[in-house]
Amino acid sequence: MARTLFKNCRVWDGSGAAAYPADVMVDGERIASVATDRGRLDASGAEVVEANGMTLMPGLVEGHSHITFINAARATDLGDTPPEEHTLIAARNARLLLDHGFTSAYSAASAKLRIDVVIRNAIEAGELPGPRLRACGPEITVTAGLGDDRRAHQFRDSFAIVADGPDEVTKLARTCVREGVDSIKLNISGDDHTSTGALPRTVMSEAEIRAGVSVARDFHRKVNAHCRAAESVKRAVRCGVDVIYHCEHADEEALDMLESVRDRVFVGPAIGLLHAAVHETPEGVLPGGVRHGIELGLAAAARAYPEMKKRGIRVVIGGDYGFARTPQGENARDIAHFVNHLGYTPSEALVCATRYGAELMGLGNQAGQVREGFLADLLLVDGDPVADVNILRNKDRLVAILKGGEPYKLDRSALQRREMRAAE
Ligand SMILES: [Zn+2]
Repeated sequence: MARTLFKNCRVWDGSGAAAYPADVMVDGERIASVATDRGRLDASGAEVVEANGMTLMPGLVEGHSHITFINAARATDLGDTPPEEHTLIAARNARLLLDHGFTSAYSAASAKLRIDVVIRNAIEAGELPGPRLRACGPEITVTAGLGDDRRAHQFRDSFAIVADGPDEVTKLARTCVREGVDSIKLNISGDDHTSTGALPRTVMSEAEIRAGVSVARDFHRKVNAHCRAAESVKRAVRCGVDVIYHCEHADEEALDMLESVRDRVFVGPAIGLLHAAVHETPEGVLPGGVRHGIELGLAAAARAYPEMKKRGIRVVIGGDYGFARTPQGENARDIAHFVNHLGYTPSEALVCATRYGAELMGLGNQAGQVREGFLADLLLVDGDPVADVNILRNKDRLVAILKGGEPYKLDRSALQRREMRAAE
């Protein structure tokens, strides 16, 4: 494979340290050298990219991905979409993520059983462009839980599959494993966003959660959980869940429990959807009770997450993009939400979007940082994302996108414009 030399970069390396000037050599799929002593690397046989002070940083990691979400207004829109169309939309969404600098994505659930799996396989086989993907199964929910949109007189599919009792959860989790998922998803609490979501109450029993976790352990898969209520967070920790999403209503005891498992567990607030509901949805669109619940959730997140940061709990970005209020492709907005709502500095939020994300992917010792020997999942950014994290929302500012050393994008005209600016 080819060698590429990025000369005269500012390297923001994902460790949380300040950016520094360096040359970076990519050899094959990995980063061969990061040389702060510039001009010293042997460029022979390498394609040279003159960065002129642009920022080289790790590729972004979407930590709560739903490539099967179709920017739907209603959960049942997902059930109404036939599998063939649905798979094509997911393929487009995967490409959209990579276009926007996301070189990895950890799925928080697939709207249909096999779509994440087949998209992951096609990406890995080089048949489709997209990020490295960890595939999840559909949300496993209980009757009357989040994603159960049926009524006594009417069958309606949405994004979840219903399982009641440990035996049904076991069978469904094993079915997900058989079909190739990397993780299963359990909806332990309800949700304010849907009228059927049982609000943020804790609705899945410990016996049901343990059944799902036990299957995942047997087959060496991960377990992700939807947990808004404090009690749901506690049940998730007690039962051994690996990735606990939302958690905004975590109380002191829940925070203590999360802290006690911080070396193993990841948390993701999915704050983008709350922000969009409260700040970008006109009055009257959401039913009053729903809106009020989400406002309380956003306020609770603003209290819980600075506390999680203080306790060293690893939090990942990913804001439930793929709803009408949070269209796919806008995923990098979450970085600014961490700064504006959750008390993170820009550098800390970027660590959540890169290094912690790679750790969630199970690639912590080989991706998510600009380090020698690490996978060359890299972005060359026109500007300083620490000074303005919103630069990363604009894909035109992503001059190069590399995944495993392969240049998915290398914008020569942007490099030339930069060269001309530098010469002036
Ligand atoms: Zn989600």
